[in-house]
Amino acid sequence: WTSDTIAVVTGANRGIGFEIAHQLASHGLTVILTSRDAGVGEEAVKVLQEGGFNVVFHQLDVLDPSSIEAFTDWIREKYGGIDILVNNAGINSNQESFAEFAKKVIDTNYFGAKNMIKATIPLMRPSDSGARIVNVSSRLGRLNGRRNRIGNLDLREQLQSDDSLTEELIDQTTMKFLEQVKDDSWREGGWPQVLTDYSLSKLAINAYTRLMARVFSDRPEGQKIYINSCCPGWVRTAMTGWAGNVGPDEGADTAVWLALLPDQSVNGKFFAERREINF
Ligand code: NDP
Repeated sequence: WTSDTIAVVTGANRGIGFEIAHQLASHGLTVILTSRDAGVGEEAVKVLQEGGFNVVFHQLDVLDPSSIEAFTDWIREKYGGIDILVNNAGINSNQESFAEFAKKVIDTNYFGAKNMIKATIPLMRPSDSGARIVNVSSRLGRLNGRRNRIGNLDLREQLQSDDSLTEELIDQTTMKFLEQVKDDSWREGGWPQVLTDYSLSKLAINAYTRLMARVFSDRPEGQKIYINSCCPGWVRTAMTGWAGNVGPDEGADTAVWLALLPDQSVNGKFFAERREINF
């Protein structure tokens, strides 16, 4: 990796995203640190620049199409493309009504990450090592978690099988949940029991990771894109109210490792603490 390698990190003004930007930059890459609020993002960049790191700021709200467009136009113009995308931006704790918040969680954690993948595919620069996408997800979104699984066996099987997994199925699954949230019938819907909206948003991005790995595998040699997702662990950040058993530096480790991994057989997989675990 050299300073010509361009890595983009979303939601990088604080927490795990900030550490991912820091660690990628410590490997000598050029890191584009993005945040939805320009003020806090610029402050974060200043901290890293003062430490001698090659980090550049750009505003990016993963839910705002005009922000995404301005960002991709800027990247194209300034760098001609990117090599690594880390989808880290996410939300969790609910301060509002469940119905309002559930939609925001699914929108940010699933549709926001998907927006970024779609927007950056045309920007991914050809290389022998392949471009990389890492989605910062959560163990709570595993399909086969012991407690936190989808109760509807048919749906679980459909999401699990490569033959039936489609983007429409993932989208419809999240929509169905949100409809049930609206009419207050979601408790009987067989959804994950723990942090249901958050878990489902991460389940959706995990499934999308598997799907896109398959889609990308058709790309010709030299234009490959490898995509994986990971759980950072239980990390002391604003999201957890600073509860957790590791700091953001450890939380960032697996995402950074996946972004830089030379092994091209690692694709469409889910990792925690640098180990593969099932979805
Ligand atoms: P933080 O709340 O500290 O950071 C979340 C970041 O996402 C913030 O920079 C936030 O920006 C940004 N963000 C939220 N919405 C948007 C948006 N629409 N566009 C751009 N950026 C946005 O949490 P963490 O660092 O803990 O979380 C990082 C990731 O790790 C998340 O995806 C989370 O789900 C995941 N994760 C975290 C765990 C933990 O224990 N902490 C466990 C499992 C997964 P702003 O500052 O403007 O709010």
